[in-house]
Amino acid sequence: MATYQSQITADHKSPGRAAPRLVTTCKEVYNAVIAARANGRSIGLVPTMGALHEGHLSLVRASRAECDLTLVTIFVNPTQFGPQEDFSRYPRTLEKDLQGLGRCGVDVVFAPAKDEIYPAGFSTYVDPPKVAEPLEGSCRPGHFRGVATVVLKLFNIIPADVAYFGQKDYQQSLVIRRMAQDLNVRTDIRVCPIVREPDGLAMSSRNVYLNADERQQALAISRSLNLAADMVRQGELDAAVIKAKMRQVLADAGITRVDYVALAAPETLEEMSRIDVPAMALIAAHVGNTRLIDNCRLE
Ligand code: AMP
Repeated sequence: MATYQSQITADHKSPGRAAPRLVTTCKEVYNAVIAARANGRSIGLVPTMGALHEGHLSLVRASRAECDLTLVTIFVNPTQFGPQEDFSRYPRTLEKDLQGLGRCGVDVVFAPAKDEIYPAGFSTYVDPPKVAEPLEGSCRPGHFRGVATVVLKLFNIIPADVAYFGQKDYQQSLVIRRMAQDLNVRTDIRVCPIVREPDGLAMSSRNVYLNADERQQALAISRSLNLAADMVRQGELDAAVIKAKMRQVLADAGITRVDYVALAAPETLEEMSRIDVPAMALIAAHVGNTRLIDNCRLE
């Protein structure tokens, strides 16, 4: 089986006509960005873990609309996965990703090997902000420490004007915004809307883990969020009542392992007992062996 590095090399040797420039070292990508900046071009950065879908491509399109040069990073970041999580089986589809990014007009793809980002002796981490503590933070200890660390490293390696993230990982977007502000990052942060499948399932690289039955079950997550939005629109403001109904939707679909169903303040993610709009509804639940997250804003 080809290693990740040999796959990169092979793809690099035979790029398609519209293939983006593939770089694998920090030095190369930094030089590419500095050269573009020297020519007066603005730089848009889209950090990803690959296995790209329309959600990722929507970030690319946002960058292309606003910036002169769009740079996508593909790196499955080991430090944001817990020991029992899916790091080793996380889908890696570099060749297909490069083709899709080429069709979208991406200029440069940075796909480093693990040692390029975490060389021997690496031992400095970002202590993430308070908003990293609840929800994902309590279910996935160390997750946001890994996220904040790799994203800050990417901001340093790639001095972009704007970086694009998805609302799909809502808490992550808050963590990154706060970190960028607190640590004087010069890159502007944009958060783009969630892209969904036609039936409502939020697109995710992890959806490929779902079998046909689980794929059906998973729809209960967006259904549950829609129910919360409807209830609030109709004047229900008691969070306990809404959350009970949301949990019922999940249970009715056979989703029994629910990490959280939360109704929380959009900036702090503090749980609300009485809904004060705007608020966020957020769910993390296991469908079979796949952990999925989704959220929606309640207006
Ligand atoms: P990932 O590859 O899962 O780390 O995601 C890379 C970026 O794409 C993150 O900023 C995600 O929030 C964003 N993203 C993932 N799924 C979606 C989606 N369905 N809609 C919009 N953005 C997404």
